[in-house]
Amino acid sequence: MKLVILGLPGAGKGSQAVLLSKALSIPRICAGEMLREISKEKSSLGKIVKETVQKGELVSDDLIFTLLKQRLRKSDTRKGFILDGTPRTLNQAQMFRKLFSLDKVFVLKIDEKTAMTRLLKRGRGDDTHVAIGRRFEIFNREIGQIVKLYHDLGILVEINAKAAPQVAHKEILSHLKRG
Ligand code: ADP
Repeated sequence: MKLVILGLPGAGKGSQAVLLSKALSIPRICAGEMLREISKEKSSLGKIVKETVQKGELVSDDLIFTLLKQRLRKSDTRKGFILDGTPRTLNQAQMFRKLFSLDKVFVLKIDEKTAMTRLLKRGRGDDTHVAIGRRFEIFNREIGQIVKLYHDLGILVEINAKAAPQVAHKEILSHLKRG
């Protein structure tokens, strides 16, 4: 099963991806986490990634494509995987189509105010007002085209993410059972 979970920062993509990863015994792949690891490196790439993530900007599509291609070479992805928060641009979505075909794409729907409150409570390095504002702006700019692509492929599912994580999780599982 090859799945994607998308949504506004703070929608709960990580929580849903972790629950789903346990339920289906397939790995969760989060580009954001991979990038946070890279940003600890003293290399010039580490420095660029750190600055980009802190500002709430996107890293390049090419970097994401390279990282994902490498990650998918590991044998734990044989039965499938859950992409958490990726693709973030239409170009990434199109690049991924060359690597694999997805079964379902879940988009977690939430209002910005609720998402902002959640993020400010979490307080990660890039969870400042300015960086969150920028991440929301970019998400709103890109998501329409991505959703259209997956809708046209007949694999898009929208999930209400204002409810408790377990409620959204059950909704996702029931969609997967329906096929
Ligand atoms: P959130 O969804 O709360 O922003 P993530 O961990 O998914 O958290 O992403 C954190 C940051 O990592 C993003 O703001 C962006 O800078 C970078 N990032 C994550 N995924 C991608 C991607 N697919 N393409 C470009 N940049 C990404």
